[in-house]
Amino acid sequence: MWQMLKQLMTTDTPREVPHRPTQADMPGVAQGPANQIGPDAAAPAQTPKAETKSEGIRRDTGHGIRQEILDTLGRALCIRVIDSGSCNGCELEINALVNPYYNIEGLGIKLVASPRHADMLLITGPLTVNMRDAVLRAYEATPHPKLVVAAGACACTGGMFKDSYAVCGPLSKLLPVDVTIPGCPPRPAELLQGILTALQGGRL
Ligand code: SF4
Repeated sequence: MWQMLKQLMTTDTPREVPHRPTQADMPGVAQGPANQIGPDAAAPAQTPKAETKSEGIRRDTGHGIRQEILDTLGRALCIRVIDSGSCNGCELEINALVNPYYNIEGLGIKLVASPRHADMLLITGPLTVNMRDAVLRAYEATPHPKLVVAAGACACTGGMFKDSYAVCGPLSKLLPVDVTIPGCPPRPAELLQGILTALQGGRL
């Protein structure tokens, strides 16, 4: 089955050519440049923009990452994000990973809603006393083999909340941490680098 999924993910899916409305589809609409949908047919055809070197490298890197995930897991890398008491700054950067610019789903990395479906726990925050049991239960619910990544200064060292009475972290006091990603908050590219470093550690 993994071979089939690999094949599906690596083969380009044929796409239907979008239907371009004609005058017959819109009897009440006058034909003319102001009402025309799509490029102006009378305008000279534009030559496609040449791909720059950095665009080419970015495309190659994305393909390489996707292939590496497929070679390791045979499917998408599933990540459960856990907030162990953060200020939500780290979550904003993690959310940026799924926007169209970073597009981690296109690389074969999914954020999932349950630790039972996860290969990796991406944990933010300084680990508050109130979140300690919840984090431990999420870790126990995650199937083996599993990776733990501490995202942000708070999860790595306690950060600015280190000496608070409400904090029992950093995370490494509670769980075996595979990779730490410093920064307050870390940028999306740094988060992605940390996730890939954990994947390359070879424990999955
Ligand atoms: S590392 Fe910075 S941004 Fe992230 S939870 Fe801590 S204080 Fe907030």
